[in-house]
Amino acid sequence: FKAKEQRGSLSFFSDDLTAAVHRRLQLEQRLRRALEQQEFCLYYQPQWSIDGQQLTGVEALIRWQDPECGLVSPAEFIPVAEQSALIRAIGSWVLSRACEQIADWHRRGVRIPRVAVNVSPQQLDHQHLLHEVESVLQQTCIDPAQLELELTESGLMSPGLEAVEMLASLRALGVSLAIDDFGTGYSSLAYLKRFPLNLLKIDKSFTDDLLTGESAQAIVEMIIMLGHKLGLSVLAEGVESEAQRVELERLGCHQFQGYLKSRPLSVEELEALLLSSS
Ligand code: C2E
Ligand code: MG
Ligand code: MG
Ligand code: MG
Repeated sequence: FKAKEQRGSLSFFSDDLTAAVHRRLQLEQRLRRALEQQEFCLYYQPQWSIDGQQLTGVEALIRWQDPECGLVSPAEFIPVAEQSALIRAIGSWVLSRACEQIADWHRRGVRIPRVAVNVSPQQLDHQHLLHEVESVLQQTCIDPAQLELELTESGLMSPGLEAVEMLASLRALGVSLAIDDFGTGYSSLAYLKRFPLNLLKIDKSFTDDLLTGESAQAIVEMIIMLGHKLGLSVLAEGVESEAQRVELERLGCHQFQGYLKSRPLSVEELEALLLSSS
């Protein structure tokens, strides 16, 4: 009786699992096809000096123009891609597309100081990233100082990773390095000293609570102070109100990004914005 019951619940569980695995495999397949059919594109979200007066760079954010579902957010498909090797292929595509865009802007005299590219933890191992960055810089002949890589705390914490040496090599190429969503991962403050970083990006969740929660304010203050002490630039993500911007400015934050000034934009929209503000 007991064995039967167990078997029953076991098979129920595995049916559920099968359905979930099936859905995931299906999405993976559609993503693979999307890559082949060139259904991905990059949007660019402007980053500003904290007074909002100067464009300091843009962050490249992937979008999927799915023929069936329209524009799909990366929040929906990047986590799935990250569960398979697919994220490497997508990550490579993003890196080269962003660098080609930098080269194109350079040729056409469009002045974009810096383009930040998101790098998933899985792209970090095996020195692969270093070689990839080296070859894309060579192919596109862009100024390496115009490229910034956004890494996550979990990416840097992955065991067995010779991250310090590789990041130093990336920096030696002239590329700059940012920590994305700072404060939300398994952070160890020790690594901030070891890794050759340029920028800390304060996660949007802290910006959200900056004016309402005491602990968020304490954390933001601490990150900004840390940045100052370690000689790193600090950028706040997800700034939606002028009150948040003013408070961040008061606390000594250097840059921000958020709907207050601009959403992620298509290339055409971004160029139009530059023309209208110059
Ligand atoms: P992220 O790198 O932290 O990017 C910031 C996200 O916050 C973007 O969402 C952006 O549109 C959104 N955002 C910016 N300002 C505001 C604001 O003021 N209010 C609100 N509500 N949202 C704001 P998006 O484009 O949907 O990207 C979500 C996440 O997907 C990214 O978070 C990043 O982790 C991942 N992602 C996007 N593109 C790529 C990529 O090319 N490669 C990898 N590996 N991940 C990517
Ligand atoms: Mg990012
Ligand atoms: Mg972020
Ligand atoms: Mg984020």
